[in-house]
Amino acid sequence: MNNVIEFSEVGKRYAGEKNAAVRRMSFGVGEGEFVCLVGPSGGGKTTVLKLIAGLEEPTNGIIKKPANVAMSFQAGALFPWLTAFENVALGLREKSMPEEELARTVDRQLDMLGIFQYRGKYPADLSGGQRQRVGIARALAVDPAVLLLDEPFSALDPKTTAELHDDLIQVWQRTKKTIVMVSHLIEEAVSLADRVILIREGTIDSIYKIELPYPRRENIGFHHDVMHIRKEFFK
Ligand code: ADP
Ligand code: MG
Repeated sequence: MNNVIEFSEVGKRYAGEKNAAVRRMSFGVGEGEFVCLVGPSGGGKTTVLKLIAGLEEPTNGIIKKPANVAMSFQAGALFPWLTAFENVALGLREKSMPEEELARTVDRQLDMLGIFQYRGKYPADLSGGQRQRVGIARALAVDPAVLLLDEPFSALDPKTTAELHDDLIQVWQRTKKTIVMVSHLIEEAVSLADRVILIREGTIDSIYKIELPYPRRENIGFHHDVMHIRKEFFK
């Protein structure tokens, strides 16, 4: 498998901070792979995503990453004065895509995320789950090589989260995108990812390969994997 992302001895220290947020971190993400970063708050998960997105530069080491990376932030981070359609269209307008092609592309993304009927609605008139779907559709619309998600479902109720998990897996399998997602829930990571990377104090604590078939929560091995990682998590 080709690695689309590669960290080699990467360090990141924010200006004015005494301690590094990320220390000598090395790992790779394969093309089409779904990786979840889990770990205690403040461990450096978001920093790793920002380094992949190019929103932050490393202080040490080398990062290999594709040029076209898209990130969806918590709660979708939509523009409230734009409709769902226009929020998804945003990145394409920057690329000055012809209007007809743009409409087709946006509608396809809205349809894939199951929110086509809400295309004319403003974020305030959408539920949390629908807003998150718009945020993911917007990130996917620019056809990125890598999709980055930072705790995308943390503000949602369990039922909505479970629906979004199923749909995200479908989107991933259909688009074959490489996904790197941050989660603070081990159950979430195990129900989604090919590999779960436990990050603690700016370093990789351990990496777990999850080989269960989807849907995973119904699988007998699910709780075994969750318990196994949890033991490390609370070590
Ligand atoms: P996580 O996402 O795992 O909670 P973060 O990557 O957000 O962790 O943070 C890692 C460490 O870096 C924390 O100690 C945090 O306070 C610090 N940090 C994050 N962003 C900044 C910033 N912009 N400036 C200074 N320190 C930061
Ligand atoms: Mg974070």
